[in-house]
Amino acid sequence: MLVLVINSGSSSLKYQLRELADDGTDAPVPVLAQGLVERIGVPGSGVPDHAAALEQVEAELAEATGGRTIDAAGHRVVHGGERFTAPARVTNEVIRAIERLAPLAPLHNHAAAQGLRAMAERWPDMPQVVVFDTSFHQTMPREAWQYALPDEVYTEHGIRRYGFHGTSHDLVTGLAAEHLGIPRGEFRAVVLHLGNGASATAIRDGVSVDTSMGYTPLAGLVMGTRSGDLDPSVVTHLMRNHGYDAEELDTLMNRRSGLLGLAGEADMRQVLENAASGDGRARNALDVASYRLAKYVGGYHVAVGGAQAIVFTAGIGENSAPFRARVLDRLEALGVAYDAEANRARVAGPHTISAPESAIPVLVVPTDEEQAIARLTWELAR
Ligand code: ADP
Repeated sequence: MLVLVINSGSSSLKYQLRELADDGTDAPVPVLAQGLVERIGVPGSGVPDHAAALEQVEAELAEATGGRTIDAAGHRVVHGGERFTAPARVTNEVIRAIERLAPLAPLHNHAAAQGLRAMAERWPDMPQVVVFDTSFHQTMPREAWQYALPDEVYTEHGIRRYGFHGTSHDLVTGLAAEHLGIPRGEFRAVVLHLGNGASATAIRDGVSVDTSMGYTPLAGLVMGTRSGDLDPSVVTHLMRNHGYDAEELDTLMNRRSGLLGLAGEADMRQVLENAASGDGRARNALDVASYRLAKYVGGYHVAVGGAQAIVFTAGIGENSAPFRARVLDRLEALGVAYDAEANRARVAGPHTISAPESAIPVLVVPTDEEQAIARLTWELAR
């Protein structure tokens, strides 16, 4: 089966054409084509809207498909609110529901809805599936998702913790349980998705019971350009006393903070390089980020009733041995011990980096969100 995986941003459209075998696993050559259309809607770019972007994608795909029809499309959608607890087949009603959720993710959901409409017009017979970043976390208990604000802030405005990166946390949880030979339904773990955006998830009985991102992806860990947790009064103080408006604060906290704000670099590789050559700001950034992350691991160890695994994934989690070491060094009180050589080794696929005596096994498990979306699409569309 040929599945087109689509990730529509506000001004970009990323795609991957994947081939799945009859049983839904990857075909021998799983990725037939991939690409990115940028500057959608930007005057002078030649790509006025998502329909025009799709036209460009279709041209780029022609060679890769070799005349075969694409069987289905799977779309990543950021926000599924409380309505979508699982992937869904696309109907007009589903597109309208995604638009109704747009206030929760203004830039992303509108773009996703436009992408969906453009697809339905261009390929009316192709089944389409939506996969949400939030759905995996809909199993969180109320004690984990509710903010201690007056109840009507939730009931009237939907303000609560939703969580993101769900597709990745879900995939990685399953792979980690399998690697350890533990039935997923009994699996307790702390999963750390550390990319440009980063989040930690507490897994109990194989499902999400808490996660570090909140109403938006700004909460929780120190990220490439996002601050993660801070005292909300910082926001009101900056507005009242230093002339910031909402737009500027949004930019400050989402685009100018995190590693970039602390170290002047958003990219972990660069931060590590600078720290190694004695840059004090880079070292401080690594300290703040690894301290915050270790605190979440400790908290989630409690939340899950004793983790059976700590799992690293995504760009930094999979590739950055020095950053993993900085986090694991702080977990000694939990009885965590890692094997320095195993931590540095480059291994494809899920592998263990903890020492045999470690009280909690530590794993590195590569994520592949496109693969997960293709597979979920296959399940709903076949
Ligand atoms: P996104 O959230 O954009 O999908 P990724 O999962 O690709 O991000 O992660 C990007 C991050 O991974 C960057 O901070 C990058 O520096 C980091 N990264 C990738 N490879 C390495 C590496 N070999 N060592 C350290 N960091 C790495």
